[in-house]
Amino acid sequence: MTAQPDPRTAELAANLQATRRRIRTAAEAAGRDRADIALLVVTKFHPAEDLVRLVGLGEREFGESREPEAGRKIAAVRAALSSGEGAVDDGDVAFAADMIGSVQRKKAGSIARWARRVHSVDSLALIDSFDGAAQRALDAGERASTLGVLLQVSLDGDPERGGLVSDDLAEAADRVLAASNSLALEGLMLIAPLEMAAAEAMSRIAEIRQDFVERYPGATELSAGMSGDVEEAIAHGSTCVRVGTAILGARPILSP
Ligand SMILES: *Cc1c(COP(=O)(O)O)cnc(C)c1O
Repeated sequence: MTAQPDPRTAELAANLQATRRRIRTAAEAAGRDRADIALLVVTKFHPAEDLVRLVGLGEREFGESREPEAGRKIAAVRAALSSGEGAVDDGDVAFAADMIGSVQRKKAGSIARWARRVHSVDSLALIDSFDGAAQRALDAGERASTLGVLLQVSLDGDPERGGLVSDDLAEAADRVLAASNSLALEGLMLIAPLEMAAAEAMSRIAEIRQDFVERYPGATELSAGMSGDVEEAIAHGSTCVRVGTAILGARPILSP
């Protein structure tokens, strides 16, 4: 018995198809293997029901940016999927959520319980917080493996957007490597500055990443590219695009 999808599911399916096509076309244009580029669907401000719909449409990797809403939402999605209420039949869905937004140190403990990786690590203090938090989560059996860390890079030093300037990356990377019991150094992340053309931002992060990978050969991930600049990011080596608006539509306005 197959029911008609509800209108929201149909909308998400169409948007998802268009986004997958963009990724495939950009990968082909860059002569890259599509399998080397992950799509992280960013559902911030949208409800858990949308995540369940997206899992039903085949997506398995999600990005969240606000704690504690993120942790609550992930728990709701896991509950829906395991109870069979969701659109998914196979009981064993490998579902992963990453933290991509700016993090307050006091939230590290709760994030370490649900996040596969954190893309937005941008200070030594935050690395220390996640080291302790991931260790406690491992000891308590709340996570099964080390917490992945991507260092957020700032191209313009704007504290508002966050990120480490390139001169400070090595010190941070060494700090993550020193915490190898709890953390895994996976690569770099960029939120392109608004005032910079996407192609320029992506070509600059590509250079920084090339130097970084020479020094840290295991840290090959590059999380870059959002709804507006997927193509430029893939052309410059992104391994993970974080797409929200193009798939979920405009974010609902929240009352204060
Ligand atoms: C919201 C957000 C995205 C998604 O942005 P869209 O323009 O909606 O695709 C990607 N990365 C981060 C860090 C975000 O906060």
